[in-house]
Amino acid sequence: MPVFNHPEFDHHQQIVFGSDAASGLRAIIAIHDTTRGPALGGLRIYRYASEEAALTDVLRLSRGMSYKSALADLPLGGGKAVIIADPRRDKTPELLRAMGRLVDSLGGAYITAEDSGSSEADMQVIAEVTDHVGGLRREGGESGDPSPFTAWGVFCALKSAVRHGLGRSDLEGVRVAIQGVGHVGEHLARHLHDAGAKLVLTDVNREALAHLAEELGAEAVDPVAIFDADVDLFAPCALGAALDADVVERLRARVVCGAANNQLATPQVAERLRERGILYTPDYVANAGGVIEIAWQRRDDYDRAAVMAHIEGIEATLDEIFARASREQQSPAAVADALARERFGRG
Ligand code: NAD
Repeated sequence: MPVFNHPEFDHHQQIVFGSDAASGLRAIIAIHDTTRGPALGGLRIYRYASEEAALTDVLRLSRGMSYKSALADLPLGGGKAVIIADPRRDKTPELLRAMGRLVDSLGGAYITAEDSGSSEADMQVIAEVTDHVGGLRREGGESGDPSPFTAWGVFCALKSAVRHGLGRSDLEGVRVAIQGVGHVGEHLARHLHDAGAKLVLTDVNREALAHLAEELGAEAVDPVAIFDADVDLFAPCALGAALDADVVERLRARVVCGAANNQLATPQVAERLRERGILYTPDYVANAGGVIEIAWQRRDDYDRAAVMAHIEGIEATLDEIFARASREQQSPAAVADALARERFGRG
């Protein structure tokens, strides 16, 4: 399995393969860059089809975290961890503690947190053996779920995108299609509803979709129909790679801004969106609210108002990215990548 010649290899600082016979742990931690601080990134537990697939994922995701933290102005670098296992069948306290020991062996260069396949409860188990964990329950027993913070950040991002893409300074009557009303999408739908937006919602979970649509007076459509919705803005809040070559041609929205990670199926999609006059909001800038809150948890002076103000800074960051993209006739994705690399010293 090539590592240094891997297509996703981007001079990652450290890649650690760990195993534990007793618990069956097979894990990889990738630290992409620590120029700005320790590498923070979630732990994904997934039934990868192969070790190669796990390596590809951890290399790509850890690099993405460097970009996200840099543009969120956090004193953090980018890292990620994966365990090759079925989270429903193989996840045991022994496995999680073995993972915690692997995290601990890096002495704080990598800080773990929740990701798909791992929960806040899993982080509590990992925290039994290492201090290098984020996303834990806050003092006072409040849930460590980052989704409300992520949703608030996406809402702030959306205000900038609407200003630049639609020339509007408010959301009253703006038509928004949300793909996926799970943890983040539901909160986002409520913020938009409160701001007067008109919503078109979809989800594969039809029951949850019907409830929310009724409560908010929104239109509910089939998952396949969401791309054709007659709206001003499309908010991908479900899976990655929602924007592929086909979808880009179908979109009627003039702006894309959502929570999902890795929304662009290929980098070329960003350019095609620009050609079609659709303003794309770089996903890792819009969805940084959760990581901003986790970063604040590590400080002694955690203060909710300061966290929210930091998250609201996403709006100004995007104003800068959109203005530069327009000036330089580039896609906002290309501008965001360049800006992030400048910030962690690889410009
Ligand atoms: P979630 O699993 O709670 O919600 C996703 C929703 O999408 C679910 O309700 C699911 O039923 C629905 N869905 C799945 N496939 C669909 C499809 N084809 N069409 C329509 N709906 C579909 O996840 P989440 O925590 O809300 O995260 C949403 C996205 O945002 C993910 O891509 C995630 O990686 C990203 N993200 C989340 C956070 C966070 O704080 N939770 C932070 C950054 C990025």
